[in-house]
Amino acid sequence: MNISSTVKTCELCKKPLHGRLDQRFCNDTCRNQYNRSKRQFEKVTPHPNATAIFKIIKTNYEILKKGIPGQIPEYNAFTCDTKDFIASGINTKFYTSSFKSGKEEWFCVFDYCYSFQSEETTQILQLRNQADL
Ligand SMILES: [Zn+2]
Repeated sequence: MNISSTVKTCELCKKPLHGRLDQRFCNDTCRNQYNRSKRQFEKVTPHPNATAIFKIIKTNYEILKKGIPGQIPEYNAFTCDTKDFIASGINTKFYTSSFKSGKEEWFCVFDYCYSFQSEETTQILQLRNQADL
């Protein structure tokens, strides 16, 4: 029998352990230090822009939900002038999901989606399942 494989060692300092079978650390100092460093490792600091980006997404959602001035209903969607869409203050860099439908690319903020059809026309529609998890 290989002795080195049967001797348990402290999970922090690797000193051999001689206590109970379930012993993991040689003393409280090692156990505390190990747990402290593990907690530190698991703690994920948010991106510095996270709060600002969440705010942008919230604003984008409000703009889409309120509707773009001058938008007109068309089937189950709305169309508006792309200039008005941009002028609404929407930040098109941030959205929650996107998908392609043929050649059209749709960008969604939760269940409200938009697609630039041309320089003149932007389409907006509500897809309730787009925000399903
Ligand atoms: Zn130790």
